[in-house]
Amino acid sequence: MPELWQLTISEASEALRRREISATELTRAHLDRIEQVEGSVRAFVTVTDQQAMRDAEQVDRLRREGVELGPLAGVPLAIKDVISTKGVRTTCSSRMLEHYTPPYDATVMTHLHEAHAIMLGKTNMDEFAMGSSTENSAFFTTHNPWDLNRAPGGSSGGSASAVAVGEAMAALGSDTGGSVRQPGALTNTNALKPTYGRVSRYGLIAFASSLDQIGPFTRNARDMALMLQAIAGYDPLDSTSINAPVPDYSAALTGDIKGMRIGVPQEYFVEGTEPGVRAAVEQAIETLKSLGAEIGECSLPHTRYGIAAYYIIAPAECSANLARYDGVKYGHTAKKLSGGLIDFVSETRAEGFGAEVKRRIMLGAYALSSGYYDAYYLKAERVRTLIKQDFDAAFARFDALISPTSPSVAFELGSKVSDPYAMYLNDVFTIPANLAGICGLSIPGGFSEGLPVGVQLLGPALGEATLLRIADAFQRATDYHTKWPETPVAKKKSRKRS
Ligand code: GLN
Repeated sequence: MPELWQLTISEASEALRRREISATELTRAHLDRIEQVEGSVRAFVTVTDQQAMRDAEQVDRLRREGVELGPLAGVPLAIKDVISTKGVRTTCSSRMLEHYTPPYDATVMTHLHEAHAIMLGKTNMDEFAMGSSTENSAFFTTHNPWDLNRAPGGSSGGSASAVAVGEAMAALGSDTGGSVRQPGALTNTNALKPTYGRVSRYGLIAFASSLDQIGPFTRNARDMALMLQAIAGYDPLDSTSINAPVPDYSAALTGDIKGMRIGVPQEYFVEGTEPGVRAAVEQAIETLKSLGAEIGECSLPHTRYGIAAYYIIAPAECSANLARYDGVKYGHTAKKLSGGLIDFVSETRAEGFGAEVKRRIMLGAYALSSGYYDAYYLKAERVRTLIKQDFDAAFARFDALISPTSPSVAFELGSKVSDPYAMYLNDVFTIPANLAGICGLSIPGGFSEGLPVGVQLLGPALGEATLLRIADAFQRATDYHTKWPETPVAKKKSRKRS
């Protein structure tokens, strides 16, 4: 009999429905797990234990009264600290928002509350979602449960580690250039970046608005279908949200991928990828072939310009979005006032932002400045169109594409912090999907020297059901996604709770 914190959502919701377990027991089991491992993993900025127990009791009460509840009712989740939660501190792991409590919920939170899911707390991240290792958090570093000396990836590293180690059954992150998929790959979790506009961004604290998308972490494709079902859909509060019906994602999991056309983009199998990663992805391709998928080669020729275009567009949008942190309306306020208004604002921003955020703001402001706009921003937007056209051509021939999620397995903490460019290169395979607005899913694809390898499936706009069907068929044939890291031993007592 597995521990309660080891259950998948599908298993737990069945047991809850049959009243074999209660939401209170399930939530308590996860809070105990947090108590046990958080001292060494450090995934949470805030644990909302009391509210979680109250919400769980409410779910049990409703069930006793005979109210029919959905599959997420009583399911304990972790939420990245970039998603606004009414009455619960939302920091973006930044000094700038260290004491900020939103007066409203993000739309995804409204959906999760309606589904009676339980929030366990808010997870650590790279400051304002800028980074690939969670080491840019202003508060502390999150560790990868597969090897505590290694990074969980980022920027949603807290959410990824929490799911990987059983502190939460699933979690939400945000993906601007790979921040859900890459940590998913590095922690052996399933991680989805939905199509741009599929999930509302209302209440997601903005980094780069034309690229940001909220996505879930789960332990298998079946649970991913349930999570996506709960959060997807049109939202009048987000002007970029897509007004299209949401399919039944669980119904797409037929187990049958015979005749499905899966493309292998040659530009994603180049030098620089670790041999162990490449071997695992090639093995996954063989598995899909044996399940009846038709595999063929394709080309995405503008892939090599992806990182360059992203590091113009994302900083440009960030420099505009982060202009709102001026110390006046909310967030950090400089204490020492040396001069007038300009000094006050610059003092506030100098104190409130960390080095990487400042680097991005400067890059972006430069790229947008008069005389440089055409040479940088406009050119990057043109490259973006070419990358999108590459995908359009590929999806005319294929239902989905397959690649590594990240060129490497989890890297050692500290090994890339002094070299931002090396850190940026980690997102070479994930960034193009954000630039093109398409969907991408990272699934556990095996191990290299004991560390997890992620396989990325890319789909056309609104192709989530196809990706989930492939992932589910793969998971019926493999057991990588069922593997757990050895329980790390807590080094010190977990953090103070709210
Ligand atoms: N690692 C990328 C960056 O630093 C992507 C971050 C993200 O997806 N939020 O910008």
